[in-house]
This record gives sequence, C-alpha cells and structure tokens, in this order.
Amino acid sequence: MAQLLEGKTALVLGVANKWSIAYAISAAFVREGASLILTYQGERQRETVEELGGELHASKILPCDVTKPEELEALVTNLKQSAPVIDSLVHSIAFANREDLSRPFLETSRDGFLLAQEVSAYSLVAVSRAIAPLMTRGGSITTLTYLGSTRVVQNYNVMGVAKASLEACVRYLAADMGPKRVRVNAISAGPIKTTSARGVKDFSKVLEGVAAVAPLRHNTETAEVADTAAFLASDMGRGVTGNIVYVDSGFQIIGLGISD
Ligand code: NAP
Repeated sequence: MAQLLEGKTALVLGVANKWSIAYAISAAFVREGASLILTYQGERQRETVEELGGELHASKILPCDVTKPEELEALVTNLKQSAPVIDSLVHSIAFANREDLSRPFLETSRDGFLLAQEVSAYSLVAVSRAIAPLMTRGGSITTLTYLGSTRVVQNYNVMGVAKASLEACVRYLAADMGPKRVRVNAISAGPIKTTSARGVKDFSKVLEGVAAVAPLRHNTETAEVADTAAFLASDMGRGVTGNIVYVDSGFQIIGLGISD
C-alpha cells in the first residue's frame, strides 16, 4: 500500500515521552514513510527523546528550547547542512505555570500570562519563520490546540487565552505562507492524559465528563490525532490551510450533554 508521506522529511517539536501527542504523530509519520527529525527542550529530556527517536529511526535529534533564539538559530544551521529541505513541521509545545491552571483566571500574573503566550503561541511564529527557508517544496505546518481557546473550560485559564492567540497565529501564518505553498493548520485535540495535561487541576474529571457526552463516547486517543496530522502533512491535505481541525470525538458540537 502506498505510504502518505513517502519521500518527505518531517521536523517534530514537542516529544517529551511516549505519552506525548508529538510521539504518536512521529510514529504515524514514520509509518507513512517520512524521514524524521526530533527536537527536545533541554538536557533533562535528552536521554528519553534520544531513546524514543532511536526506536523511530529519527535521522537527527537536536536541542531546541523555543524561548532561546540562539537554540533555534543553531537548529536551523544544523538542518541546513544535513536536511536542507523540510516538508512538514509539527509544533506540539505549550507551557503555563501550574498555579495559573488551578486558581481563578482573574488572579493570573503578568509574568504567567506572558510566559504562556511566549511558549505556547509566539513560538509557532518564531519556529515557522526560522524553518520557512527550508520549506522549498512547499509543505505543511501543524500545531496543537484545545477547545479552551473559544469556550471557558474550568482551570484551563491562561492556556485558553494562549490557545486563542495560537489559533489566530495559524490564520495569519497561513495567509503569509500560502503563496509559497506552505499550509498552516491546527488540530484541536480532545483531552488526553499526557504530562502537560496532568498540570490542569481536576483533569481526570474533564476526561470523564467528555467521554460521557461526546458523540463518539470515548476519550480522544493520541493515535487519532496522529492520523489526522499525517493526513494534513500529506498531499491528501493539499487544499487545507488556516483551519482548526477538531479531533475530539465530536465533543465541540455539544451544547448541553446529559450522560446516559
Ligand atoms: P507533553 O507530552 O507534555 O508535550 C508538551 C511539550 O512541550 C513537551 O515536549 C515540553 O517539553 C514542550 N515544551 C514546553 N516548553 C518548551 C520550550 N520552552 N521549548 C521547547 N519545548 C517546550 O504534552 P502534550 O499533551 O502532548 O502536549 C502537546 C501539545 O498538545 C500542546 O500544545 C498541548 O497544549 C496540546 N494539546 C494537548 C491536549 C491534551 O489533553 N493533552 C489537548 C489539546 C491540545 P518538556 O517536557 O521538556 O517541558
């Protein structure tokens, strides 16, 4: 059977461990024939990502903390030497202070607000700009968002505002990069138990609530998100840009759900 991403090179940012959405996306990309390059945030994560990258036969595993412009620059310099063409970029990165994901949104500090915006939204702009010169065949940029961008989800708070910003960035980037045949989209995933998600207070109650009323009656699996990411990165997704694609068992259409 033909593979969706044969001959394509993908750069994936945001693998922390095997539960990461970015890990499932990486595995799906490799399954579909892509050559894979991974990044990790810091020394703390290096060994795990090298191990996971080894299993997926990643051609390169490089450091990149998106808050450090010099690391982004070093990443691009390294890629130019060995993987001068990138077809697909996956941005699966977010961060907010834990206290901002539990206390009332009204209490959000200036620093906490700016940090969430920098890591979770602005980094998409910075990384897209840095990698754009390598996307010489056109291609696809995909980021990860969540429903808390447009609806109030208890305790998601500052991250909801950052995701609203991220989704607006997707639209502006799609408009800027479209003429060079680079498509920019976000996947809005339903809640999934990952390391980041555990930082949101009462996250397991969110999982239970969603599974009870979502049309498909189950929580989103990373593999479902990953298959949609593979589609978007492939030529099958060639007409799709500037979109927020929901992979959430249909939860986003529900106004009021009453569990069975
Ligand atoms: P995850 O495994 O914890 O992934 C988050 C990643 O962001 C980690 O690899 C983390 O690295 C990285 N990161 C944080 N700060 C960074 C920085 N300054 N530079 C580079 N990398 C940085 O959790 P995940 O759930 O898969 O999250 C991936 C994306 O999916 C996020 O954008 C998240 O908001 C989104 N999303 C998640 C859900 C969900 O329910 N899980 C739902 C919708 C959308 P470290 O571990 O080294 O800090």
